[in-house]
Amino acid sequence: MSTAKFFSENYQEARLRFVEAASLLKANLKSFTLPKILAPDGSELCIDTAWVGRADAKVILLCISGTHGPEGFCGSAAQLQTLTDGSIDNLPEDVAVLFIHALNPYGFAYMSRYNENNVDLNRNWINFDDIPKTSALCQELNSLLPPIDKFNEQHFNKALQSLAKLLEKHGGLAVENALGAGQYSIPEGLGYGGKEREWSSVILAEILSSLNPRTQKIAYLDWHSLVRSGTDDMVYLCFNKTDDPLFKRCASWWGDHNIRTEAVAEKWNKGLGREGGRPERHGLVMWGVQDATQACQEVAGGVVEFTDQPLEPLLQKLENMRAMLLSRYFAHNRDLSSEYNQSLYLQSRELWAPSDQSWRELQLQHAQRIFNATLNGAAIWANETSDVETNNE
Ligand SMILES: [Zn+2]
Repeated sequence: MSTAKFFSENYQEARLRFVEAASLLKANLKSFTLPKILAPDGSELCIDTAWVGRADAKVILLCISGTHGPEGFCGSAAQLQTLTDGSIDNLPEDVAVLFIHALNPYGFAYMSRYNENNVDLNRNWINFDDIPKTSALCQELNSLLPPIDKFNEQHFNKALQSLAKLLEKHGGLAVENALGAGQYSIPEGLGYGGKEREWSSVILAEILSSLNPRTQKIAYLDWHSLVRSGTDDMVYLCFNKTDDPLFKRCASWWGDHNIRTEAVAEKWNKGLGREGGRPERHGLVMWGVQDATQACQEVAGGVVEFTDQPLEPLLQKLENMRAMLLSRYFAHNRDLSSEYNQSLYLQSRELWAPSDQSWRELQLQHAQRIFNATLNGAAIWANETSDVETNNE
């Protein structure tokens, strides 16, 4: 199999391929254009959606890519595969699939996990009347970052060295929590969750507000990359609470052994080269989906991460830091024409979506199996779901 037809070279190519494949399937396509900022080639930056199946399906499978910008290289490849491999040519009764391509189009095009305002969209769905406090460790960590305006390899290495010291002092979990939980007070820092709903979040809410009232259940599958926990299987982050029946629902698709908290923590630790439990998170997109849908609509599922082989733990931690620093750099620097920026761009792409053929083939096989298991679960869910009572007054 040639994986090059699924893994695109850049955002523009991924977008064109997605729209073309969805058009061939006669999907209902919509585009939402990011105001004011263009892609590196001068074209528009868009969130594209494709609806396949009946408009009033009881269950929809909501499949998202590019929440974290360049993680969209993998997510878009998985979506493109699903659109072209026959998986959804004959959808189960009462199930529709809604693809959202490049939820963070700026980050996808400019190689940043963060968006055009340096915001992590997967931390943006908090209640802004009750903002979480920034921890002292998070403040310390952000004080070690290189300047935004003058930035070179020396700055990079200096920051990485300071961060390595911090890791040694506080341990991987504490640093990851400080870095990854989401912070709301340092706009130029890492893990910034914003001061209001970002454009992408507003668009997502708009997309979901137009769901048919007959739709009651949402199977949520948000493709991310990349966790270095080994390539036997992907990493499944179910965001339903473990005592919620929706957690069991999700377990029936992805395997109880895969989504149990301890199992996920074990893989995550391996993938991030650290010890400890599952980190804390604020403002996840899935909670936004829950927020934006109606009370009668249930949402089950979560994030599925592409994986790769583990590195030596310290190297792993530093590589993760490097990926974050590069993201912050590209959230603030849009000129991709210089040789230095081009080399950082290519280096980053390799971190988010390795170019190795056999790796890509294996990951696409996992993605196909996981998508089809989720679709099968959605079909079972639809069969169990009775019609909404209509008011015949
Ligand atoms: Zn991600």
